[in-house]
Parts: sequence; C-alpha cells; structure tokens
Amino acid sequence: EFADTPLVVRNLRKAYGDGFVAVEEISFTVERGHVVGLLGPNGAGKTTTLRVLMGLTMPSGGDALVFGHRLTPGAAILSRIGSLVEGPGFLPHLSGYDNLKAYWHATGRPEAEAHFEEALEIAGLGDSIHRKTRKYSHGMRQRLAIAQAMLGLPELLVLDEPTDGLDPPQIAEMRRVLKRYATDGRAVLVSSHLLAEVEQTCTHAVVVNKGRIVASGLVDEIVGESPSVQLAVSDV
Ligand code: ATP
Repeated sequence: EFADTPLVVRNLRKAYGDGFVAVEEISFTVERGHVVGLLGPNGAGKTTTLRVLMGLTMPSGGDALVFGHRLTPGAAILSRIGSLVEGPGFLPHLSGYDNLKAYWHATGRPEAEAHFEEALEIAGLGDSIHRKTRKYSHGMRQRLAIAQAMLGLPELLVLDEPTDGLDPPQIAEMRRVLKRYATDGRAVLVSSHLLAEVEQTCTHAVVVNKGRIVASGLVDEIVGESPSVQLAVSDV
C-alpha cells in the first residue's frame, strides 16, 4: 500500500514528557511532483512534526509511510529522504564542495555518485562552493545545507524553514530551486511561517496551528480564502 507515494502521514501525535501535546491528529500526503508547505506560526508544531518524521524523536501515536515503508528511528527507508531539520555542522577549513564530498563519502550510496554534480547544479551554489565554509555568510551556509540534503537526488526532500535568515533575492532563488527539485517524480515537504512564501513556493499547503491541521489542499484553493488560515497565520 502507498508503495509509490513519497509520504503518507497518519494521525500523528506527539506529547512531550511534561504532558504538553505539540502535535495532534496530523494527517497529510505528499505526492510525487508536489511541493507541500507545512505552514503555521511559531510553536504550531512544524518542527516537532518534521523531527518525528526524520526519526529524531518518537511519536506518541500515529505513523508515517515513505513509499509504503513505515518510518521509525533508524529505519532503512530514511536513506531515501534528504533532510534539513537540524542545522548540519561544516568543517570550516574545507570548501563547501569538499564538505559535501566528505559528507557524501561518509553517508552516500556510491552508485548514486553520478547525481552528486547534478544535485549541486540544482542547488545553484555557483563559484562560492569552492570557498572555505568559515568565510560563508548565513545565507550561503543555509544553501550549502540544502545542497547537502539534495545529494543523491533523494525522491523526498524534507526541509525545516529553509529560507530562515535569507534575504529576498535568496528566497526567490530558493523558490526556483525547490520547484525544479520537485520534477522527475521527486517531492518536497517544507515548513514555513510565512504565508507569502508558501504561496509562491508550494503546490500544496498543510496549515497547522496549536498542533492541529486547520486547512490543507492546493495552495491556490486554501490560501487567502479560509478564515481559519488567515487566523492561523495572523498569529505570526
Ligand atoms: P518554530 O517555528 O518556533 O520552531 P514550530 O511550529 O516548529 O515552531 P515546535 O518547535 O514543533 O513548533 O514546537 C511546538 C510546541 O512544542 C511549542 O509550544 C514548544 O514549546 C513545544 N516543545 C517543543 N519541544 C519541546 C520539548 N522538548 N519539550 C516540551 N515542549 C516542547
């Protein structure tokens, strides 16, 4: 079941040790070719959702399937997901390119080596990739982290607030990169607290507030129309 669907999330729930319920009854699907925005104000439960999906913390209920395989901490299927959920550290004395090579050799599948350059091409880092990362600005570091998530061109990309701290031209560039990434049957799940960004970047949106979904569907259909969406994002 769902063997060809990048991601199916079913009734996800997460209560923290102190009893606080950060995520409740979250269900949505990410299909091939879609860029799905997980949209909501700070504290809505976006990071918690993505951390559960990436096996960084255990859910209290529900589950998620990636191409039909259940996601659990350490599951082999995690290798088919490229993610930026916790900021990766880079070696400051190496160039961006050498950092990615080192990362790839430590974790990558050799048979996907041919995709290395293609992933860099899509990420569009240009010549800055050959500078040492200690000279990188926040924006360049962020883009390198996104390039790292794209290595091997995984069929599902999961990014937590990738445009955080980027300036408007860099955000526009990110838009182009994500749209291009979600072709050839690949899919992207990206969190954001900015309505405009989701409108311009995503094909679909899942709007969350206080741990629950308040709207979901095609971006064009839900954004700007539903009062609950307006209310959710006006909390920002
Ligand atoms: P942000 O954009 O600020 O990261 P978010 O939508 O990603 O917001 P989460 O980080 O998932 O939200 O947090 C959701 C809620 O869970 C918040 O109220 C937060 O305080 C709470 N929370 C997060 N981590 C923990 C934890 N380890 N223990 C208890 N509560 C937590």
